[in-house]
Amino acid sequence: MSKTFPCPRCGEPSTWEGNEFRPFCSERCKLIDLGAWANGDYTLPTEDAPQTEDS
Ligand SMILES: [Zn+2]
Repeated sequence: MSKTFPCPRCGEPSTWEGNEFRPFCSERCKLIDLGAWANGDYTLPTEDAPQTEDS
C-alpha cells in the first residue's frame, strides 16, 4: 500500500514511494517548478553550481 498525495504543481494524485520526482508527480512538474524558482523571487543553493570564488 502506498500513500498518495496531490502534486503541488498540477494537483494530480501521485505516489510518494518510488517517486524520484517527489513531491511532484513527474519530471515535468518538477522542471516547471524549478523554472518558476529560476524566474521568480526564490533563491536556492544548488549543489551542482561550480564555485568560482578563488579567481
Ligand atoms: Zn504534477
